[in-house]
Amino acid sequence: MILDGKKVAEKHRLNIKNTLSKGFYRKPGLAFILIGENPASNAYVKMKVKGCEEVGIESFLIRFDETISKEKLLSVIQELNLNSDIDGILVQQPLPSHLNTDQIVHAIDPKKDVDGFHPLNLGKMLIQDESGFIPCTPLGILNILKEYHLSAEGKHVVILGRSLIVGRPIANLMSQKREFCNATVTLCHSGTRNLSELTKKADILIAAIGQPHFVKKEMLKKDCIVIDVGINRIFKDEKMILTGDVDFDHVKDHVQAITPVPGGIGPMTIAMLLENTLKSFLSSKNS
Ligand code: NDP
Repeated sequence: MILDGKKVAEKHRLNIKNTLSKGFYRKPGLAFILIGENPASNAYVKMKVKGCEEVGIESFLIRFDETISKEKLLSVIQELNLNSDIDGILVQQPLPSHLNTDQIVHAIDPKKDVDGFHPLNLGKMLIQDESGFIPCTPLGILNILKEYHLSAEGKHVVILGRSLIVGRPIANLMSQKREFCNATVTLCHSGTRNLSELTKKADILIAAIGQPHFVKKEMLKKDCIVIDVGINRIFKDEKMILTGDVDFDHVKDHVQAITPVPGGIGPMTIAMLLENTLKSFLSSKNS
């Protein structure tokens, strides 16, 4: 079974659109700060802006060249924090090396941190305080599994990659006593020994390492579920294509279910960003 992230994301977008058609006195506002000319960042922000347009969220794209100073960036974030027409602030990563990512992310008002990367929101996620924002990619993973009635309850979930935006939050969520989760989790990284022995024990494997086609059939138990988060740019037949961390063609007939790349977790991530923005908007006094 192919888990169609495009279709599920469309359903979420439609729900947002319907909610917003109920007559609010203003539209939700989502500000994007894009620094420099990284082609991948440009493409991601473009898709996110398009997503906003589709559902009725007003987007504000603020671009800077990569020499922007820390002081200038912090003052722009502060203005957005105080702007009552802005419900969400997203600073597209990666940032140029002279900027400290933590310092920039921590400057965003947690109530507008729709990416869910602020320590207050990560802490709320940890204690299962639902008033915070869960990072979009892990939230997208939960929602695609839910849509296909693939519960992780009692299962062994093996995660490849421990980044703060994917691996660590999804490991935490999966281990929580919450609907569709309640799993036993193994979190792997570049220091993990005998990786294949662990992946072979996975009922659900989540790959988020940024290594094209790293996961092969031999590493997986028959009929497991595979969530491929990886987005890698590779050249095939002299054309640049996007591909995942899993060798899709090699494993697709061996597994119970798998997300494709593109068309899997990518669109879900964007839909969750829009959902987090809606959540911020609905909880704002100014909606
Ligand atoms: P990071 O580079 O921040 O983290 C990669 C993680 O993978 C690290 O924990 C690293 O270990 C681990 N790792 C790398 N190589 C191996 C290996 N051979 N074996 C085991 N672990 C390994 O990546 P991100 O989490 O930001 O992104 C991961 C992938 O997901 C990328 O392809 C990215 O483009 C994609 N992505 C997709 C999104 C979507 O919407 N679909 C959203 C976000 C990311 P260590 O910590 O030891 O270095």
